[in-house]
Amino acid sequence: MPKTIQKQCVYCLSNKVLNDNQILLHGQHLYLCAPRGQLVEGYLVISPFSCIGSLSALPADWFPELYLIIKVVSVFYQETYGVTNMTLYEQGRGGGGARIDAAGRFPFHAHLCCLPLIVDLHSFLSQHYTRKPIARLEDLSIIAPGCPYVYIESQDKTGVHKSCVYVPATEIKSVELERIRLKPIIASLIDLPMRGNWRTYPGDNELKHLIKCFDLFKRRFQ
Ligand SMILES: [Zn+2]
Repeated sequence: MPKTIQKQCVYCLSNKVLNDNQILLHGQHLYLCAPRGQLVEGYLVISPFSCIGSLSALPADWFPELYLIIKVVSVFYQETYGVTNMTLYEQGRGGGGARIDAAGRFPFHAHLCCLPLIVDLHSFLSQHYTRKPIARLEDLSIIAPGCPYVYIESQDKTGVHKSCVYVPATEIKSVELERIRLKPIIASLIDLPMRGNWRTYPGDNELKHLIKCFDLFKRRFQ
């Protein structure tokens, strides 16, 4: 049987899959980028330079940098789009030790996704997985130890801002969390179902405009 070849990791900077202009901020351990597949203009990702499977495996002393970049994203959203309520989420599909996506054969590389809008993922996820409140991202390794998870920080349908981790209650749910793709679910929740897959909706016009807006935003601080 032919062995399926593992795909190159998009988020490992050494692979140079991302164009230089997509890297918006370059920190000591982490970077901020504007990926293709803009669900809405402003979809941003914070990621480590090289492959770490999930944010729950991030070294403890990297979190201050992560918070700093989140703060920059928050100010950018507010000043550029007038948005004060963003959604942050991470699919910790590699949290249980899995290294690659079973279907797509791409490596799991930790990335925190940022969206300049409210998406009530809490309602969807709480129907399927066990919800655990979390105060700080560095607690992921304690609250979701050795298992796949989803981290969500956003308002729920009652307007309450919540930071929660969703973990599997059974082995079947664990396998499901390792495979689930949230992007099509988010695209449906925001009534833009065709944007759930970057191949069918690359969002290149939004990407171009986002890069331009972030460049203008950065110039104000230089
Ligand atoms: Zn990688």
